[in-house]
Amino acid sequence: MIDNIKDYSGAMRKHWLKLLYFLFVAFFIVNIVQHRVVLLRRIYFREISPNIYVSKRMPINYNVNVINIVNKAIQRNNQFFQSKTNPIDCFILFDSTDTRLFSRIETFASFKASLWTSWIVVNYDGLNTDIIAHEIGHHNVYQRLGTLRYFKHMYNFPIWIDEGIALQVDFRTDFEDRELLSKNQDISSLMKLLYRRNNSFYNDSDSYENYTLSKYAVSTLLKTHSPDYIIKNYDVLYP
Ligand SMILES: [Zn+2]
Repeated sequence: MIDNIKDYSGAMRKHWLKLLYFLFVAFFIVNIVQHRVVLLRRIYFREISPNIYVSKRMPINYNVNVINIVNKAIQRNNQFFQSKTNPIDCFILFDSTDTRLFSRIETFASFKASLWTSWIVVNYDGLNTDIIAHEIGHHNVYQRLGTLRYFKHMYNFPIWIDEGIALQVDFRTDFEDRELLSKNQDISSLMKLLYRRNNSFYNDSDSYENYTLSKYAVSTLLKTHSPDYIIKNYDVLYP
């Protein structure tokens, strides 16, 4: 009887070990795929200035323009956050072949974070100061989340604060629908609404509205709080 129990617990342990091993391998593969742009940087990209990598397919005469755009975007962030932006690798893609390999075609640019590092990927049609400043804004938010930032950013940090802050350094006029904003003037009910929409923030049908409301909610909070305060006290701010 005792031997049977031993056999059973031994089999269970093996079962759990197999599952753990499987999870570890799956996590590792997902990370490798996520990191492909970082892992292939030496083969596929040219570093034209510290932390600025452009696809080797991009003609060399574009370099100065790219460096200027990224530097302007960093300066805009430094001004907004009142502190120097920590360096972050920016990978600039050139055409749809690059995009197919390293990005999603439908987005202009994106900020990516893994357990070990973070970086920005910019599609060629996202190569302008507003869009790069926006992604560097996400990087600045991420930096301020402190220890365990990867998990906070993934599971806990409100998307509306993340996007609302990034939109403060992104001067595109796309997210200023006056009619929509006039219906959402009460900041505390607006914040409640945005917290509720956290899991559906990027759903196609509502994302324009969510971005617009987040930009407005954050700009209202900024009248009385610093960006750092809003990021670090997001749970205190909950209405
Ligand atoms: Zn964003």
